Amino acid sequence: MALGSNLNDPIAQIKEAIQSLAQTVEGIQCAQLYQSKPLGPQDQPDFVNTVISGHTALTPNELLTKIQEIELQQHRVKTQHWGPRTIDIDILFYGNLRMNTPELTIPHKELFNRAFVTIPLLDLIPNGITPTGDQLDRNSYDSSTLVRIDT
Ligand code: ADP
Ligand code: MG
Repeated sequence: MALGSNLNDPIAQIKEAIQSLAQTVEGIQCAQLYQSKPLGPQDQPDFVNTVISGHTALTPNELLTKIQEIELQQHRVKTQHWGPRTIDIDILFYGNLRMNTPELTIPHKELFNRAFVTIPLLDLIPNGITPTGDQLDRNSYDSSTLVRIDT
């Protein structure tokens, strides 16, 4: 899963979301946290992003429901597309499953287009081989816009 936040103490938002996910996701491994400039509107704070992995008994749709509960709990309010948010949680992979429904596309559609997802993901899969067996190449991503946060 990918987590991102740029409002109300983003690092705390991300930690709180991981705590909540830990209720139903076991063995959570967390990448480093990274700070990056927002996509789209620039008149908003920088984002903090990370990626986590773990195991769950929830189905993909149950996991999405859980994610949406956590987003609501942390008072995510949708204002503008690509605008500021307290927390955004996206499912990147669900094992090697591929699915495409109106609610859920797995692997996540924008995954490979976003350095703020792929760079933290590479912390968890140093050889770059994704759960679906694709090869992620570190050199294809501009990590100069990302600043690793020491926590
Ligand atoms: P975004 O993440 O693109 O900024 P949202 O978090 O508001 O936007 O998500 C919009 C919708 O994306 C959700 O209601 C959800 O049904 C859908 N969605 C599709 N695929 C995924 C996925 N892999 N992970 C999370 N949400 C997804
Ligand atoms: Mg989302």
